[in-house]
Amino acid sequence: MTSDKLRLGEFDVWGLRDGNFYLDGGAMFGVVPKTLWEKKCPADAANRIRLALNSILIKTPAALILVETGIGTKMDQKFAGIYCIQTVPGLLASLSRAGFRPEDVDFVINTHLHFDHCGGNTYRNEKGAAVPTFPGARYIIQRGEWEAAINPNEREKSSYLSENFLPLKDYGLLELVDGDAVVAEGVEAVLAPGHTARHQCVKVKSRGQTLFYLGDMVPTASHIGLPYIMSYDLYPLDTLESRKRFYEQAIAESWILAFVHEPDHYFGRVKKTGKKYEFQPLESAEKPPF
Ligand SMILES: [Zn+2]
Repeated sequence: MTSDKLRLGEFDVWGLRDGNFYLDGGAMFGVVPKTLWEKKCPADAANRIRLALNSILIKTPAALILVETGIGTKMDQKFAGIYCIQTVPGLLASLSRAGFRPEDVDFVINTHLHFDHCGGNTYRNEKGAAVPTFPGARYIIQRGEWEAAINPNEREKSSYLSENFLPLKDYGLLELVDGDAVVAEGVEAVLAPGHTARHQCVKVKSRGQTLFYLGDMVPTASHIGLPYIMSYDLYPLDTLESRKRFYEQAIAESWILAFVHEPDHYFGRVKKTGKKYEFQPLESAEKPPF
């Protein structure tokens, strides 16, 4: 599954894929024992599970908005080996398949600045310098996230790679926001703290239909259950609160959810069975052929 498309009111929304990478399954599922998570996500011999790098592209009458930019192309072989990175099809190939060029993008939204969410913000030009991939875009980032990224603590240092975000400032494309922020009509960055202190999700609304990009608040469909919170989260109890708040709205208003790291689905819904939240795939009629 390399791309996917759906119609949301008067907007078109594409799921795009930069590629896949692998992370330790135990770290991805926090306090949930392997006997439970491996039923949903089988681990390889090194105990790693496959994670996708999914972006969404939103075409509204007013703007073209890209949410997340994958892991990008700047990494060296050692880095690519550690995370077993496969950049197929690649974000730009995926964007081109949807019919757009990098210069067509008006806004880029990063949920946060860990390298698997903003690696494609920049690329290395022929001189080896990291430069913005989307030269006509404003890059929307929470101010608190930016401050954490440019001055990282020892635990987060390896996740914040400055070549992914400092060039945005140098080229005058950076737009820092404080809290919930309307990016374009119908598209809003919404604070959802937990994974980081200022992690943001993206809410897209047109003609009464809502789509919600979860970012690392819920990285895959296997993470919908409330205790399935990553060890990477800095504030897991905040993740829990964010989830409960958004899940209830999502169910009440039948939101479509979009997943950043889910390999088998770009989109889905959350349903409640008894006290448990569960993943529900979209009906195939909701996804017209690409
Ligand atoms: Zn991530």
